[in-house]
Amino acid sequence: MGGPWIKVYDAANNLEAYSLKGMLESEHIEVQLSGECLSSATGELPTDVLQVGVWVREEQVQLARQQLAQYEHTAASSWNCPQCAEHNEGQFEICWQCGCDRP
Ligand SMILES: [Zn+2]
Repeated sequence: MGGPWIKVYDAANNLEAYSLKGMLESEHIEVQLSGECLSSATGELPTDVLQVGVWVREEQVQLARQQLAQYEHTAASSWNCPQCAEHNEGQFEICWQCGCDRP
């Protein structure tokens, strides 16, 4: 361990960055986030406009990319209900709000 840090992902906000960090760390991947210190330094920047870089060690890049690909696949398969516009996660086949079928 101890290779250079490589950025593998640009998270849209702190929340996503931390959930990715948790996911990668559960696979024993060492993670550093960049950008988060900016928001905590001012305390006023809205967290949702700041991109946060997700960095891992060079030797763990491949493993991290596999995990991120899985994450993106799950995120991409979520859907919005055509009837009530409720956002549903990818694992639901009907809208949990109104019971409408997935389009
Ligand atoms: Zn619905």
